[in-house]
Amino acid sequence: MAGGDHAEAEAVLVLPSEPRPVRLMNTIWADRDGVHDSLTTSADLARWLQATGLALDEPSVGTTDLRAALALRDALRRLAALRTRDARPAARSATQDLDVAVRVINETAAAGPPRDALHVVGEELHLRPTVPTTDSTAALAAVAAESIALLTAPGTVLNACHAPGCVLYFVKDHPRRGWCSTACGNRARAARHYRRHHPIADAAADPS
Ligand SMILES: [Zn+2]
Repeated sequence: MAGGDHAEAEAVLVLPSEPRPVRLMNTIWADRDGVHDSLTTSADLARWLQATGLALDEPSVGTTDLRAALALRDALRRLAALRTRDARPAARSATQDLDVAVRVINETAAAGPPRDALHVVGEELHLRPTVPTTDSTAALAAVAAESIALLTAPGTVLNACHAPGCVLYFVKDHPRRGWCSTACGNRARAARHYRRHHPIADAAADPS
């Protein structure tokens, strides 16, 4: 990764079409240099809340909000790992205690009232989960409520990407989708090809 600004801009854009809870999980991401966290400052969180449509203009974000966001993110990654039977070592959440993870999500969701609103686009009716806000507590409460719905959705909607070196999650919008992105699909195919042609090489070796 070239520079800090580039890394930050790229991190905010990681899989932007994923639902917000997955976008929060994916603030932990990886490249050839290793695993990165794109939520390390209050400004990072403010940027994330704006990028995900939860905040208008400049949200008021302090270190308490950042701590709450990180607790929610790590709880979410722990439960996503449970839900997707994810054993990727690099993707392991900083929160491992299941009871703690569940409590963090429930308490964060309870901190704000539900703000579901009906929204009309042309002739289509949409549920807009939150009214954009400058209140970070309400914004994180909305993400937590969305997380509960995602984590309990029937079927295998939530998936961990098992391409070499990837730590991201994604929602399967197509039955044949196996990877978080085209780039990861290509890398996984290249790794498979490499293993076929180098059968004695260490299976964990990354050919890319
Ligand atoms: Zn991936």
